[in-house]
Amino acid sequence: MSQQSTAQPSEAQPSAAQQAAPQAEFYDRLQTFVGQEIGALQRAPDDVNVAMIRHWCDAMGDANPVYLDEDAAAASAHGGLVAPPTMLQAWIMRPYGVDRMSGGPNPYRDLTEFVESAGFTSVVASNCEQTYDRYLRPGDRLTMRTVIDSVSNEKTTALGAGHFITTRQDYFDAVGERVGTMLFRILKFRPAHEQGAVEATPQPLRPRPSLTHDQLFWFEGLQQGKLAIQKCSRCGTLRHPPGPMCRECQSLEWTTVEAAGGGSIHSFVVVHYPQIPSLEYPNQVLLVDLDEGVRVVANSIDTTYDQLVIGARVELSVQRCDDELSLPFFKVVAG
Ligand SMILES: [Zn+2]
Repeated sequence: MSQQSTAQPSEAQPSAAQQAAPQAEFYDRLQTFVGQEIGALQRAPDDVNVAMIRHWCDAMGDANPVYLDEDAAAASAHGGLVAPPTMLQAWIMRPYGVDRMSGGPNPYRDLTEFVESAGFTSVVASNCEQTYDRYLRPGDRLTMRTVIDSVSNEKTTALGAGHFITTRQDYFDAVGERVGTMLFRILKFRPAHEQGAVEATPQPLRPRPSLTHDQLFWFEGLQQGKLAIQKCSRCGTLRHPPGPMCRECQSLEWTTVEAAGGGSIHSFVVVHYPQIPSLEYPNQVLLVDLDEGVRVVANSIDTTYDQLVIGARVELSVQRCDDELSLPFFKVVAG
């Protein structure tokens, strides 16, 4: 083992020589992986079928009749049964433990080993994004191709410095038309505790939310100190968590109302492990019934364990966690 002085990186990290001019070389090498195909074209073991759709809808609690009720589906805009779009990956996913690469060249493994050789040894899934070109119907038979879509240069994150690696899966029907795409992003990072003296490290930032078109308004509202509740423009039903469609009348038009801030504890958990460095423990997580009638998950604030009682009144306090993130917290109040 090499001797360590205070400024010396641990041996898992790149040497000073690797960090200087060769960083450009490292970045160039990373980009050579982009566009490479991972494994052969995958074929779905079964057609899109009603049995799997039924299991999915049962598990998800999705009662939309266009998925399973033939008459309702025939009368709908689809003209017949369709599969839930979010099942896209399920049609081709292999059972756990089945390695579709088994031997052969594997650019994804090569890329992973390359970034690990530079000290980015930890991994966390960052986000997943699906795009649908059309609805799938029973009888469709899919194939899927995976490519390395992008590799970022080094980014600083709350978990540590690292590289985002995005793979893209394109799904095709029997005649080769694309029916959907999935982007899956991971962060390969150098754990923060290996990057310097732990005691000198300020508390890392809370994890960033994965922002989508559907809930961006919610986080933006919090930045202004407001807890927004989505409201259907047609029938007035309030809903949370945010989503694109009203479950009562299927309208896609919506607006928001601001929560007054009162509510009561519907349920709670106190998390002890696993511990994320950016959160405080024991971590009190509340499921709050807002007086407006929707439920929100949030942390408590200024609340002792003894005060956590189902039914207890709580009051909203929007807190600025850092420059980019504000979140709702709830404090137990008398009454
Ligand atoms: Zn509605």
